[in-house]
Amino acid sequence: MSVDTGPTAVDVRITTRAELALHGVAMDAPVRRPDGAGPSDDGHFLIGHGLVDGAGAALPRNPDSPYSVRDGRVWLGDESGHLTDTGLTLTAVRRPRFYDLTTADGVPYEHIARLHGADVLATTVVQTCVRYAEADRCRFCTIEESLRSGATVAAKTPAQLAEVAEAAVRLDGVRQMVMTTGTTTGPDRGARALVRSVRAVLEAVPGLPVQVQCEPPGDLAWIRALYDAGATAVGIHVESLDDEVRRRWMPGKSTVPLAEYEAAWDEAVRVFGPNRVSTYLLVGLGEDPDELVAGAGGLIDRGVYPFVVPFRPMSGTLAARDGAGAPSAEVLRYVTEGVAAKLRAAGMRGADQRAGCAACGACSVLRTAGG
Ligand code: SF4
Repeated sequence: MSVDTGPTAVDVRITTRAELALHGVAMDAPVRRPDGAGPSDDGHFLIGHGLVDGAGAALPRNPDSPYSVRDGRVWLGDESGHLTDTGLTLTAVRRPRFYDLTTADGVPYEHIARLHGADVLATTVVQTCVRYAEADRCRFCTIEESLRSGATVAAKTPAQLAEVAEAAVRLDGVRQMVMTTGTTTGPDRGARALVRSVRAVLEAVPGLPVQVQCEPPGDLAWIRALYDAGATAVGIHVESLDDEVRRRWMPGKSTVPLAEYEAAWDEAVRVFGPNRVSTYLLVGLGEDPDELVAGAGGLIDRGVYPFVVPFRPMSGTLAARDGAGAPSAEVLRYVTEGVAAKLRAAGMRGADQRAGCAACGACSVLRTAGG
């Protein structure tokens, strides 16, 4: 396998990055997400190649993966034990110093917010979700499992978040923060807690780019309130644009019609400005790959960054219990390259969102593909 020059080398790199996202790497990592909102329970690494050094990569830790790391380089093993240099480098993100601290009321900082990649602080402000009953729950999500395992607290107060953010910036060089939430009852669907949290964090750390993530608020005035609180970017995550897929994978969330997502995205683009709004699109829920790429193109046209992420059956999810499988690396590569090309044509780079998952990029292959 050569990774020296030319378009073939780029294709190989994207394929290898896609395979790493799906099969993981036979290496442990001190920084991980045990359970939580959304589709990832990975270890956090920094990945590099000839052109990019130290981009965040959230990868499954898998002792059976054909990919291993020696001397900081990623090797692909075959059945005979022969190792091939992939040309990629990989280092584990070190445990941040703020994990050793505890709030005055006795809560470990690590239970309030976690390090993602090397410099993103991430928290789930409200760790419960009105849609968590088994009949309604998104089949890829484990938001309340980390609560049951004692790894986090149900609701983080604005003061706790401010205290942890200040320490994480000071001690560990955190450069942006992501705040997500389970969906709450009421027309704000979780935005109210985000508004209070953003305000408190920015009082403690003025200028820290913060991305907020929530369902489309029933009352769109909450989008303006999030912006006025100081949020830099907003993620309104639909996961799939196919209504049949939505009903199957997100029985509760799919009761919010796509038209509500579109209205919320449009309002968010109007309020937050260009390239500050994003959504997740999961690859592997059974959608037609070409329709997925075309749908992502429609989102780009309306100013929304489609953060394309592979579905993986994370332990603790309904999907894993029911034996759902991840997509093939080929499908992931195909969709990622298609979406990355549309992003490049529109001049939309994830990094320009300044805060949030698109700015971080670790859970997606888009960055490697030039998106
Ligand atoms: S892409 Fe989002 S969820 Fe993934 S590591 Fe980055 S901030 Fe965390």
